[in-house]
This record gives sequence, C-alpha cells and structure tokens, in this order.
Amino acid sequence: MLLARSHSRLLRNNYSVKLSRGKEEEKGIKMKPSPKLDKIPPYLFVEIDKKIDAAKAKGIDVISLAVGDPDTPTFPHIVDEMHKAIDDVTTHNYPPYQGTNDFRQACCEWMKKRFNVQVDPNKEVTALIGSKEAIAHVFFAFVDPGEYTLVPDPAYPVYRTATLLAGGTPYLMPIGPHNNYLPELHKIPEDIARKSKLMFLNYPNNPTGAVATLEYFKEAVEFAKKYDILLCHDQAYCEMTYDGYVAPSLFQVEGAKDHCLEFFSHSKTYNMTGWRIGWAVGGEKPMNALKVIKNNIDSGAFKAIQRAGIAALETPQEKINELNAMYQRRRDVMVNAFRELGWDVPVPKASFYMWLPVPNGMTSAEFAQIMLEKADIVVAPGNGYGPNGEGFFRIALTVGEERLQEAVNRMKKAGISYSMNNMTQINS
Ligand SMILES: *Cc1c(COP(=O)(O)O)cnc(C)c1O
Repeated sequence: MLLARSHSRLLRNNYSVKLSRGKEEEKGIKMKPSPKLDKIPPYLFVEIDKKIDAAKAKGIDVISLAVGDPDTPTFPHIVDEMHKAIDDVTTHNYPPYQGTNDFRQACCEWMKKRFNVQVDPNKEVTALIGSKEAIAHVFFAFVDPGEYTLVPDPAYPVYRTATLLAGGTPYLMPIGPHNNYLPELHKIPEDIARKSKLMFLNYPNNPTGAVATLEYFKEAVEFAKKYDILLCHDQAYCEMTYDGYVAPSLFQVEGAKDHCLEFFSHSKTYNMTGWRIGWAVGGEKPMNALKVIKNNIDSGAFKAIQRAGIAALETPQEKINELNAMYQRRRDVMVNAFRELGWDVPVPKASFYMWLPVPNGMTSAEFAQIMLEKADIVVAPGNGYGPNGEGFFRIALTVGEERLQEAVNRMKKAGISYSMNNMTQINS
C-alpha cells in the first residue's frame, strides 16, 4: 500500500510526524529527532524495495523496472585493477581528503579528452564517495535557513531533500513536455532568484531521459552569474547516450568555472554503483567550500577503489559503446511495445530511463499499484520525483530484453494500455 499513498499525501497527512513523535511521547522518551526530518518523505527506493521484498516473499516473480541500477557487472579490467590494488598494502590507510594525485590527474585527462576542458588537478577536482554524497553535501556548504535553492520538478530527490536538511527552501522549477524538460529561467520570480544560493540541473536527466543543449547551459550560466548563484550540474548519465548524441558539459561554456560545480559518477557509466566512486569538477572557490564540508564529515574514498576508478576512466570507448548499444536495443523494445499499447512515446536520446504519462484519470500511485497487482511489474511512480511528476511513471531499462518482452506480455495479458480504464475503480 505504500506505493499507493503518494508522497505528497504522506506529507499532507503528516504521517512521519505522527510516527516519530507519537511513539516517543507514548514511551515518555525525551530524545526526539530534529523537526527537519519531518519534512523529509520516505526515500522513494527504500519504499519500493520494501514492496519488491514483500512480493518476492510471497513467491511472486516480480519484474522490477523501478531502480536505476545496472544489471550487468563492472567491466573486468576494472575488477582486475581492484584485485591488484587491494593486494598492495599501501592502499589500506586513509586516503588524501581530496583524492589521490593519480585519481585527480586521471579525472583531468578525462575532462580534456571528453570535453576539451582544462582542469587544475590540485584546485578544481575532488574525488567523491559516489556522487550522491557530494550532491547532498554541497547544500550544507552554501545554503542557510531563509535561503532558497532552485530545483527542477520532477528531479532526483536528493536536491530537494538536501535543501530541506540544510534548512533552506526549495523553489521547484516545473519541467515537462511543455518546456522540453528544461526549466524556464525567465519564469523564476525576481525575489526568489535574489534569495537563491544554488541551482541544480541534471542532463541527461533522471527521471525523464531529457537532454539539454550547450545553448541552454550558456543561458543557465548567465543566470547563475547574474544572480550570483552556484550552478550545480549532475552528470551521472553523460556517457549513456544513443543515436550519436553527445552530452555537453557546463564547462564548455566560457567562464563557467567560478559559478559552477559538476558532479560525475562512475556508477552508471562503468556499472560501478556498489563501489561508491565519483568526482566533482569546478572553480576553486566553490570547490573549497565543498571540501570544507567533506573534510569534516568523511575521510575520502578507499585508495584501492580510486585506482580501480582510474582504470574505469581509461575504459576503451568501444566498451562504453557496446554497453550503450545494449541499452539502446532495450529502449527500442520498450518504445515499440508502449507505442503498440497506445502510448505516444518520445524516444529518449540518453539515460536508461523512459518517462511516460499514466493512463487517463489515474494517479501515478494508482498506476504503479495496478502494474504490481495485475502484472507483477514494479515501476517508479512519477510523484516520487516531485509534485509535478504526478501523472507520470518511470521505467529503468535495467533488465534484459527477454524480461522486458515478458513484462510487455504481462501488460498485454492484464489489459494494461494507455486507454485503459482505472481498474482500481472498476473493481472496488
Ligand atoms: C544514480 C544517480 C546519482 C548517484 O550516483 P552515485 O555516484 O552512485 O552516488 C546521482 N544523480 C543522479 C541523477 C542519479 O541518477
């Protein structure tokens, strides 16, 4: 039932408030978590994992299209490098806070080769324990109570929740088919722009699969400079692209560095989600602020993993192309299948996600519930990515073609189509 209850409804009902306060007061416990936590909805994928586990426990053969976690293993040359690195005892102690020289150098070489952007390895790069930690930490470096952040809606949930944890207020910038999933910067009210410290963008985009042009980045950098805002860009999917599309970097915009940080992740590109490694690039000033937070909270990424991370950055392009070709075939299977089922599907140029409208008259949560109950398929309800994601759902192309075909067959058998009626209403 957790999927059926939308996060916005959870918030409105103050569900978490009752849960945390009620129990403690009953027991007479004084210790209580910060009220900040009351503003944080349950983490979408923790809730989805619970649903999957419950269904599996009942012996149901669930097809999960919910979580964006690659289903194929880390490239073997990276695993080989890790074996060597872990046998070298010099990797076993604390790493340098900002990452090893070799790792930062490799990031700079990658930036040069990939984007033709010059980066100073000593001042403008930091190793990360996966990009998520830094995406959250950067808010603590810049945002104080009373200040705003500019966050796309829908978006990766961390931008909004980290704003709240830092005591700030997220101003949600709606994205959808009407604006090609690009926030309309001129529509941000002047007073909000003035009170904003930080804006997040993410292209190729999760959850929508949308992409941005370098022209758009230029506009965003200009906006950031005009209002003296830190522009953060989440590059988790920059290498996962199709049909010849090449994703740009903010730093290809002249003079972007002082106002920008970009967050790169090994997770999706090299099938390394479990390894926890990534890196940030940006101007010395914003980078130093991020480092102050990180130096006081974490102690760096395991040196052996950084060595494996260097091997990853040196992955031959053909290997990346092969992996992308696999996702592209899956994408094509699902684009064709959804079109057959009545959906008007745009073909995503990047990321392993498809973002689709739910059938008429249904909420995201209702549709997710129908998919699970009628077809044993788990999808991510769009409202989990923000209120403007209501009316959509996301699938991740992280199961093989045969399983995807099986999912399509199940949908057909269950009578699920874009023009279907709301079966929850019919049945009740
Ligand atoms: C997966 C993902 C991340 C997190 O990546 P890690 O490097 O594994 O922490 C960040 N942003 C977006 C948009 C993602 O989809």
